[in-house]
Amino acid sequence: MSAPFEPDSTVVAEVAPSPNHDERPDGQAPDILLLHYTGMPTAAEALERLRDPAAAVSCHYFVHEDGRVVQMVPEGRRAWHAGLSSWERVPDVNARSIGVEIVNPGHAGRLPPYPAAQIAKVIELSLDVIRRWGIRPDRVLGHSDVAPERKEDPGELFPWERLHRAGAGHWVEPAPIRERRVCAIGETGEPVRALQARLASYGYGIPVSGAFDQATAAVVRAFQRHFRPARVDGIADPSTLETLANLIAARPAASR
Ligand SMILES: [Zn+2]
Repeated sequence: MSAPFEPDSTVVAEVAPSPNHDERPDGQAPDILLLHYTGMPTAAEALERLRDPAAAVSCHYFVHEDGRVVQMVPEGRRAWHAGLSSWERVPDVNARSIGVEIVNPGHAGRLPPYPAAQIAKVIELSLDVIRRWGIRPDRVLGHSDVAPERKEDPGELFPWERLHRAGAGHWVEPAPIRERRVCAIGETGEPVRALQARLASYGYGIPVSGAFDQATAAVVRAFQRHFRPARVDGIADPSTLETLANLIAARPAASR
């Protein structure tokens, strides 16, 4: 097993070292806070897996349903939670992020709501990490944002709005849903290209091809999960387009 270490955050209740980490390349400082759900039936199974050398996965922080925070990897080390991923055209999100696993069985476990005590600690921990590393609001992300074709965590019930109101993460009020659909799989042309360019400019890993393909639908779904969770269908309806435009317009100046 890995050696014990001093926790990086005062929010930590317990250190449970994982052997699964390596060096951050070129001393890269973390500039992304990446949030996950564990997606396993119990917290104990998830903890065990995150400490299993054979599983080769880990995170920096693990937040129990009652809000207890466990640190598993020192922040200065590269934990293994993002997998194949990209944001703002830079791959290897693990190299530049702090990873937080939030106990929740996920979509496979019927996506129960996150308990208030758990979210309160996630917020406290996020604010602490953001402050110490100077992480930009629009770089507080979900796993599905950086790996839209593979992942759907932390899911559409994750309270991004509450985090934002507490000072963690970028968010705008979603535009109301109207029924007219404008852009979906199979369509091609300038509106599709413009949509892809906007999603890419926000940070999503998406080719600007002008063809609305499966990959585009996956990115639209990831965007909706985070920013327009009332309907996650991969269709770029007017509400989705408007929410994206508002999000970009409201982006903190330093991020543009
Ligand atoms: Zn994840």
